Amino acid sequence: MTIVFHQPPQVPLPHIEAFLQTDFGLKGRIMPLAAERDQNLRVETGSGNFLFKIAPMSEGFSALAAQAHALQHIAMIDPELPVPRVTPNRLGDPVSTLEHNGSTYPVVLLSWLDGDVLADAPTPFRNWRHLGQMVGRLNRALRGFVHPAIAERELVWDVMRADSLLPHVETLPPEWIGRAGDMLNDFRERQKPALRHQRAQIIHGDAHPRNCLVRDGKVSGIIDFGDMVHGPLVLDVVAMLSDGLHEEADTGKLFHDIAHGFNDVVALEEAEVDCIVDLVKIRLLAAAVIAHAQKSQGVAVTETIAGYSMPALSAIDRLTGREPHLRSECRRAIGLITFSANDIMERRTSAMGPKPLLFYARPLHMLKGQGVWLEADDGRRYLDCYNNVAHVGHAHPRVAEAVARQLRLLNTNTRYLTDQSVAYAEALKATLDPSLDTVIFVNSGSEANDVAWRMANVWTGKRGALCMDFAYHGVTTAADALSPSNYPSGKWRFQHVRQLEAPDTYRGPIRERDSGETYAQFADQAIKALELGDHGLSIAIMDSAFMTNGILDAPAGYVAGVLRRVHVAGGLFIADEVQSGFGRMGSHMWGHQRHGIVPDVVTIGKPAGNGYPIGAIITRAEILERFVAETGPFFSTFGGGNAACAAGLAVLDVMQEEGLQDNAKVAGEYFRNLLRNLSQTYEIIGDVRGAGLAVGVELVRNRHTLEPAREETKRILDLMREEGVLIGADGKHGNVLKLRPPLVFNTENAEQVAATLGKVLDKL
Ligand code: PMP
Repeated sequence: MTIVFHQPPQVPLPHIEAFLQTDFGLKGRIMPLAAERDQNLRVETGSGNFLFKIAPMSEGFSALAAQAHALQHIAMIDPELPVPRVTPNRLGDPVSTLEHNGSTYPVVLLSWLDGDVLADAPTPFRNWRHLGQMVGRLNRALRGFVHPAIAERELVWDVMRADSLLPHVETLPPEWIGRAGDMLNDFRERQKPALRHQRAQIIHGDAHPRNCLVRDGKVSGIIDFGDMVHGPLVLDVVAMLSDGLHEEADTGKLFHDIAHGFNDVVALEEAEVDCIVDLVKIRLLAAAVIAHAQKSQGVAVTETIAGYSMPALSAIDRLTGREPHLRSECRRAIGLITFSANDIMERRTSAMGPKPLLFYARPLHMLKGQGVWLEADDGRRYLDCYNNVAHVGHAHPRVAEAVARQLRLLNTNTRYLTDQSVAYAEALKATLDPSLDTVIFVNSGSEANDVAWRMANVWTGKRGALCMDFAYHGVTTAADALSPSNYPSGKWRFQHVRQLEAPDTYRGPIRERDSGETYAQFADQAIKALELGDHGLSIAIMDSAFMTNGILDAPAGYVAGVLRRVHVAGGLFIADEVQSGFGRMGSHMWGHQRHGIVPDVVTIGKPAGNGYPIGAIITRAEILERFVAETGPFFSTFGGGNAACAAGLAVLDVMQEEGLQDNAKVAGEYFRNLLRNLSQTYEIIGDVRGAGLAVGVELVRNRHTLEPAREETKRILDLMREEGVLIGADGKHGNVLKLRPPLVFNTENAEQVAATLGKVLDKL
């Protein structure tokens, strides 16, 4: 677009006086006002004051008619809103024509609004929330207004056309030319297409502090409807902010309060809020380009334009680098963030106890998840390479929808016949060995393990258990006894539970790859000890990914070897699939299948509902029957609820449709290869192991002594977070990086994590 600048009309005052008298019956004092496009005059009469507006011929009659109609529309929708009223001429027309020297100008007479211009108010105005509310009301009042002259308008000030200013960036100071070009190109390629998806309507478009009147600390009027366009409604917020910057030193407050006020009236959508900061910069830049282009064409720059456009470039500098913070302020304003991170930390400590388990020295305040990404209140997106609960990706719409729909319809319990619980039980059974034919629903992995053990006690008549030496199986009294990893202090003491030596071929007592049977033999002693201690063997429980032990590649035959011994001793084998299940290991749906065994009981949890709590025990009918015969019917209030099962079914569907088990296999293999490549450069990487998307990276200070790099591991976790990647650590020595992302993690994500790890190791 070429910028064509018009001087405002210059009709002589006596001519105007005469016109006002004949066409409006008005007699009074008229005073010229400065304006960019129109000739504006203040008219003082005995019956009140007016603004008389003479538009340039080029604007056409219809543009002014559109303004007049808009004002009439607003008066009808929100009569209390302080905007000018249109005074029709003697014939009742809102817009008249004024002839002068052979030219015809469209003119309109508006009521004069009292108040101080915000920018010049004697006491600096700071009630930005009220300004936001008033512009919100104006925006809402215009919602149903249409006018072809506005819809088709090509206005140079229209932010949506900012990229058409590209040919004029060379009028800017030299140091700005390249930067301005980049900003406008980015606007054209990235921001503008996204804006086209937003809610659009006719907007005021120019509610800046010189177009707002204030009185007693409140906004008493909004004037100048000459820049109305049809566009994204959020641009009304953007206009207030970009020029408001010149009036308010506390930028965070300005953004927060204006967004807050506007949102009080027109609830902003998340995408709208998130683009505000970038658009403010674009509007500031557009103003600067227009002002510089005007100057270079020798057009007189009005006071308003000089006041706002010239300092616009330094205003952009004030915002640059603070975008995430300001975006957070806007999000906070619409309730997406309730507390600042410090604030929530304090409140959390006082409400939830002084020793909270929190990741990171500077904990993250999470606000949003999507796929493999998590967003925190610092406005940053973090690649989630840790959380296995969001199995099919954070906030998966299919799961959210399934749960929401079910909650709206029915969410009750399994004492009634309910479709979802039956369908989900059938779907789970279909993935397991046919002997595992009975599904019992609970709410968590801990409960599943607890109840499974109770069932086994009835079946075996014994109560002793075997678990790995650094296992985790949950929080209940029973599951806690199966969880030596809950006792890093070494105070784990449960006589009825014996620990098994972890089959760790990297740092364990036996390091040969064919040591499966040798490691399994450790079970013999443990079983004997239980029998001697009068407990006998009820269960062995195993997470076949050995996640807390540091994601071990158990040697072939190990799991089968333990299972065989457990059966010989009359015990049941529980495969805890909370971590290893649902396709994470890539090659199989369930971890135990990878080891070629059929357990007596399978327990599931965590990823089953993608965040909706689900736990289940899957076993043989005979085991449940004996349990029920001795202890009475089993029932868990929430277990198997309709919504939980709807979530579970949706997860299975999504896994199927998106091929997530296969993805775990392919992306996991790719990921491990990248990490193995890194280990050639970085000595600290002692071992890379795992299967599918359960990946362990063991860090050592010395590859011969295998001294665990525990402190370095902690530091790496923090540094990775600084670089935008979330990972965890595990293992007896706390020196194994635990990389366990949602299954939608792809090869590109793997590259990002590996590259970031390389960068972080360089800094270590
Ligand atoms: N078993 C394993 C292997 C687990 O990893 C966990 C949880 N991390 C549990 C059981 C306990 O599950 P929940 O936290 O749902 O009680």
